[in-house]
Amino acid sequence: CGFFEWDGGGADAVDRTAAGAEVKDFEVENRRTFGHRGFRPGQREVVGAAMAGRDCFVLMPTGGGKSLCYQLPAWCAPGLAVVFSPLVSLIQDQVDGMAEAGVGAASLGSVGGGGGGADALARLRDLPAHGDLKVLYLTPEKFARSAAARRALEALRARGLLSRFVVDEAHCVSSWGHDFRPDYLELRRIRREFPSVPIMALTATADARVVADVSATLALRRDAFSWTASFNRPRLRYEVRAKTSKPKAIEQIAAHVRAHADESGLVYCLSRRDCEVVCEALGKQLGARARVAYYHAELDADERERRQRRWSRGEIKLIVATLAFGMGVNKPDVRYVFHFSMPKSLANYYQESGRAGRDGLGALCVLFFAWKDRAIHQAMITDKTGRRGGAPKSQAAVDAELAALRAMTRFAADRARCRRAIVLEYFGERDFDPAAGCGGLCDNCADGRPVESRDLAEHAARIVRLLDAVGAAADTDRPVATRLSLADAYRGANTAATRKLRVAGRPEFGAGRSLGKDAVDDLVGRLVCENVLAEASVTIGIEGKFAADYVSAGTRADEFRRADAPEFCVSVRTGRRRAAAAPRPAAPPPRPAPPRVARAPRSPHFDLTGGR
Ligand code: ADP
Ligand code: MG
Ligand code: ZN
Repeated sequence: CGFFEWDGGGADAVDRTAAGAEVKDFEVENRRTFGHRGFRPGQREVVGAAMAGRDCFVLMPTGGGKSLCYQLPAWCAPGLAVVFSPLVSLIQDQVDGMAEAGVGAASLGSVGGGGGGADALARLRDLPAHGDLKVLYLTPEKFARSAAARRALEALRARGLLSRFVVDEAHCVSSWGHDFRPDYLELRRIRREFPSVPIMALTATADARVVADVSATLALRRDAFSWTASFNRPRLRYEVRAKTSKPKAIEQIAAHVRAHADESGLVYCLSRRDCEVVCEALGKQLGARARVAYYHAELDADERERRQRRWSRGEIKLIVATLAFGMGVNKPDVRYVFHFSMPKSLANYYQESGRAGRDGLGALCVLFFAWKDRAIHQAMITDKTGRRGGAPKSQAAVDAELAALRAMTRFAADRARCRRAIVLEYFGERDFDPAAGCGGLCDNCADGRPVESRDLAEHAARIVRLLDAVGAAADTDRPVATRLSLADAYRGANTAATRKLRVAGRPEFGAGRSLGKDAVDDLVGRLVCENVLAEASVTIGIEGKFAADYVSAGTRADEFRRADAPEFCVSVRTGRRRAAAAPRPAAPPPRPAPPRVARAPRSPHFDLTGGR
């Protein structure tokens, strides 16, 4: 700790600065005060840099141990650290946790008890020099809106008691981040108004652009210490299952919960209604002893808080929730996270599934995937009515969200590549080696069958031509084919819906029969995902009750109308599943392949398994 002057250490490993304040040895204090046997990856380096007075940027996965990175230096250095944290409930958990370790912590709402008003601020100003208070939590709102609070902090600084500013959940600073909060932007004032105080920013979710944006906004120094931990969560098992129907997915969840009745878990749903439906169905299937509750934004704040606490204590075993649940949840022993529907981005999926196994032990993450859910997300992203309130989104924001959705969908639809490798690549880690780093802990790595690449461009082109022919023959400008009816028509199913798509003299109807239903459904979904087809939810009926996902030609359809169409590769699993593979519903035999045509790779690489 070169920043401070050492005078010899001693048995109690306490040192003093020139001014006589204590500087403790963080290696010792990590064991003695925080009770840890050692450091998690990165912690020692970050704490060392912080103790040396450097700015720090810490990018560490959820559960990686970010809190210690600022709590330990705060405890060891003279003065106190001011920590910005987004939620009061989150702050309370942290303060409680530190009290357990015997480290003085408070939130600005509760300095020496009482409210966050003038009293608390006065107490803060009069804090004894080098007293017990080591960490002071504060929401960015408080900082942004209370000049008195800022003055109190300035008074601390003037007395040399402000050791550091810490910005937790720092991605909220950036409008590129997935959880931008305008009040966080006001934190750019800390460098301006407190230029001598080091800053530490921490987050679990930031790509390179967000890191750069946050660093610039907070004006981190050029020599800031930056730690980027791998985002790999080696003990999480990832699995994607086809959501063939809601009841079947619920049955699978119920089976898991029944077999793991003592374990805590989460089920994420897209809609509030789904939360209630799934929760009720699970309650019925699991019987009277089921300890299941749902959680969404319609519950009042007290009830939400109550349910979260009961779940944290293990009185409720399973919470069925929307994405409203989670920020600030710090339960270490979550053993499974099911996604009843896929989230809107891989970053969200990583964050939500990452709530499992924070104690470092094994946990299961299952995502139920249906193409329908992609369409729902798309409809919500492009919804122009601004149902959620707030300002209309810019086109750039819509495009970014659609790109994020595409990455999520590719992950879910991929049946060949290591799930970890896909997630890590999304976060910029390109050198991950599944053979060494996954160890068969994802469904795709566990599936031992060979992967064969197939080019389905011929089929793609015929599907576009089928749609063109249907459009030309129809007496309306509105799209007439839905994703499902188009797929059914292409494989030649004879239904009321497909009869409308049968155009006399055209050979495309039924041309995909050899592929089989699952593969055709999948192919049409992929064509939508890659903008060869466009899907739009059209609401019909007086009350707008019936929505259907109609398809039309997408922005890339033209590429498949030409003779030199690009390849549209999918990966197919061939042969029998390895006996040792993770148990999954039996798969029908592989289906015959269409002829393979060699082309230069242009489309992203896909995979397609014969039935699952
Ligand atoms: P993050 O903020 O990165 O999501 P936390 O700081 O909340 O993670 O830490 C997650 C869990 O890991 C906590 O229960 C914490 O006590 C524990 N932990 C952190 N550092 C260590 C360590 N060095 N040894 C053992 N447990 C640790
Ligand atoms: Mg944290
Ligand atoms: Zn894998």
